[in-house]
Amino acid sequence: MSEKRGLIFDIQGFSVHDGPGCRTLVFLKGCPLRCGWCSNPEGIDPFRELMYSQSQCIGDYACRDACKSQAIQAGQEGGPIVIEREQCQRCSDLECVDACDHNALRVAGHYTTVAELMNKIQRDRAYWGTGGGITLSGGEPMFQHEFTGAVLRRCYESYIHTAMETSGYAPWKHYQEVLPDLDWLFFDLKHMDPDMHKGGTGVSNELILDNARKIASEGECRLIFRMVMIPGFNDSLENLTATAEFMHSIDKKEINILSLHHLGSSKYDMLGREYPFRDRKGASSERMEEARAFFVNRSIECWVGSNTPF
Ligand code: SF4
Ligand code: SF4
Repeated sequence: MSEKRGLIFDIQGFSVHDGPGCRTLVFLKGCPLRCGWCSNPEGIDPFRELMYSQSQCIGDYACRDACKSQAIQAGQEGGPIVIEREQCQRCSDLECVDACDHNALRVAGHYTTVAELMNKIQRDRAYWGTGGGITLSGGEPMFQHEFTGAVLRRCYESYIHTAMETSGYAPWKHYQEVLPDLDWLFFDLKHMDPDMHKGGTGVSNELILDNARKIASEGECRLIFRMVMIPGFNDSLENLTATAEFMHSIDKKEINILSLHHLGSSKYDMLGREYPFRDRKGASSERMEEARAFFVNRSIECWVGSNTPF
């Protein structure tokens, strides 16, 4: 039994949008990118974090009294608590969470061994029916490449279909380690211009595109690109054309385009972070359909949102 540990922040069963059949999604913590539109902000930092729901807080300050690091302060005039996140030691006991009887505090992230995670996956397996499997997501699963690789290997050995979502931003040798055990790969293309990519995500796209080329030529997995369409950032004719040309150049012609949404906005509040895309509008359904037609007219299979054949 492997005792390799990973830090995950969610497991969701019965997903039908992230690979074939009914699937169990496993979300891993840690990501090297900083996309302003990220819908899983609790997946970005590679450590456990407190999430605070002000609407559930009754202001009895039991959490403040429990914290030995003085990382929680009473709010002004009995108002909501203030978490001094620099001061928080992320103590293993999580006494503040234990002290709160109102579920206003919870922690994002818990450590699990490969064996423990495999037990949960095997338990879900009974409900998948035929054609299901697991999908690793995040955060960026390759940020914990050793754990990711060990989980994929165990699934491969157990005849479990595997898929992964990736930003493409990890050393090539790490992809080489996991690709033999991967059936499907959803690969983000956020922008084709290196400077625009850096402006939107904090990193250039050179490593990402290089990895996509190598995966297309050496990997045996099904490679499906994904792009969140962000008006004013990556939905220009120029960028769509460059995306289509890149896909043709590596002979991979499947893309799933997604509309920007704000389902993660409350999680920014719970983490005490700004959500810079709060007021940004997503692409209209007409614009999404135009983009779909653009790719289809260039002999690329394109699906909008969850309207996929898998
Ligand atoms: S213990 Fe819970 S309900 Fe009480 S102040 Fe802290 S977060 Fe709010
Ligand atoms: S996790 Fe520990 S250190 Fe951080 S606020 Fe809670 S009790 Fe204090």
